[in-house]
Amino acid sequence: MKSAEFDYIKPASIDHALQILVQHGDDARIMAGGQTLLATLNMRLSEPAIIVDITGIPSLRGIRTVDDTLHIGALVTHTEIEESALIRQHAPMLSRAAPHIAHRAIRNAGTWGGSIAYADPAAEWPACLLALGGTVVAHGPRGERRIHADDFFVDLYTTSLAADEILVRCEIPAATNQQWSGFSELARRHGDYAIVGLAASAERSQDRLARVRLALMGVAATPFRARKTEARLEGQILDDSAIATAVNCLREEIDPFPDLTNSAAAKRQMAATLLARLLQSART
Ligand code: FAD
Repeated sequence: MKSAEFDYIKPASIDHALQILVQHGDDARIMAGGQTLLATLNMRLSEPAIIVDITGIPSLRGIRTVDDTLHIGALVTHTEIEESALIRQHAPMLSRAAPHIAHRAIRNAGTWGGSIAYADPAAEWPACLLALGGTVVAHGPRGERRIHADDFFVDLYTTSLAADEILVRCEIPAATNQQWSGFSELARRHGDYAIVGLAASAERSQDRLARVRLALMGVAATPFRARKTEARLEGQILDDSAIATAVNCLREEIDPFPDLTNSAAAKRQMAATLLARLLQSART
């Protein structure tokens, strides 16, 4: 299929892009890397009257540290994250997750901001943002708005971004010496969307875990924080018994929806396996 006709504009500033969004309301759609949007246009799942291509706005690019925070611009591509020394140093979870996203050609074009804004529950970046306790920074006609990841993912492909807001960057607390993080997923073939995935972070203080955050992909309408399992791990020394208790807790806590090839029970088993593997890896 081919997309319906649309107008196209490529503004050079956030202010100009916002003007267009306000003027056209729900008839306008932002385009970043186009790796998801173009498919939805071609399948006519979306028929906007005007596409606002934001790739000409320089201020949306770049990865930098500001004090103890890592700033990732909306237009940073998956490949740039994969290859960034700053990311490896300050958010190693993202370096581990990046190669799981699709294939090279898609990673070269697809963007961090597009993935967070699209909020696919099986995608890597939303789960990582949630596990790392990051913040989304959005600009709209009412000014700047900061939204914690815990409040950002609202429902299936639905976020708390308003239609006239642009996600400009995300801010992630830079990893400390005490921080442990892990990422793992199970997919049918490399590059496929994950069936189930897990992004995990915690602080280690005298062998005990604190501030545990577990974000699962592929089990709910949004990336899912397993808060009961997190609480079970809080303050624990990671021995075999603590790991087994946490894994059993996760089995009870999640109620995964099945997909075309995987039952809820299979997904529950996959999530439990991923948690056991990541917690074992945290012991070394
Ligand atoms: P676009 O397609 O340009 O936009 C996506 C949506 O986000 C649109 O609704 C757009 O309006 C909105 N948007 C974009 N940027 C902003 C912004 N700054 N502010 C507000 N709204 C914005 N992704 C994974 O995570 N894991 C995978 O395994 C995976 N596999 C894929 C396999 C294939 C074959 C393809 C085609 C894609 C796959 N993707 C996967 C999706 C890919 O990662 C996309 O790059 C990503 O989801 C969207 O990024 P984009 O820059 O292309 O956004």
